Amino acid sequence: MPAPDVQTNDRQTKAAPPADPGRRQVLCGLAAGLGAALIARPALPSPGAPRVLNLYNPHTGERFHDAYFNGEGYIARVLPRLNWLMRDHREAAAIEMDPALFDVLWQVHRNYVRVHGISVVLNIHSAYRTERTNQLLRSEGAAQNSYHKLGRAVDISAQGYGIHFLKNIVRGAGAGGVGIYMRSRFAHLDTGPSRSWIQPLF
Ligand SMILES: [Zn+2]
Repeated sequence: MPAPDVQTNDRQTKAAPPADPGRRQVLCGLAAGLGAALIARPALPSPGAPRVLNLYNPHTGERFHDAYFNGEGYIARVLPRLNWLMRDHREAAAIEMDPALFDVLWQVHRNYVRVHGISVVLNIHSAYRTERTNQLLRSEGAAQNSYHKLGRAVDISAQGYGIHFLKNIVRGAGAGGVGIYMRSRFAHLDTGPSRSWIQPLF
């Protein structure tokens, strides 16, 4: 049950027939494509600006789409909502998550924009785990001394985009531990020491 440090509260072309249809068409196509890219591509989040996370917890149906960092520091009144979203849903137990983990998730968002020009919603499959839940998940490969128990790890996927995208994106997100679970289609990220592993597809 909740430990003392636990909180339980929580994005055409129709011109006149051109003299040189082939070339004109290509040029128009290029221009249209560029215009679409300029309109649709989200702005690359800047490190000095407010940092926004767009998260979804598939276990509880809860969402978080808000700034957690105002450009100068973490927003104290917002962090409890994030902590609660990342609770152990089996035990309704929350903990103060390592805010550095939120920065890792923000970097994941930023990498999707930088590399693919897309804003994604990240699914939070697992974040904080009580000792009991961690024991329960040992048969599924949870580590005995899991960073999940310390509020320093999160398992994620990106809505609408596969594990192959995610595998490359998370490697440049500033996490310490990076585990790629090809078969289960999620990535583990934590704020522990630098290390990486991969669960093969077969
Ligand atoms: Zn994990």
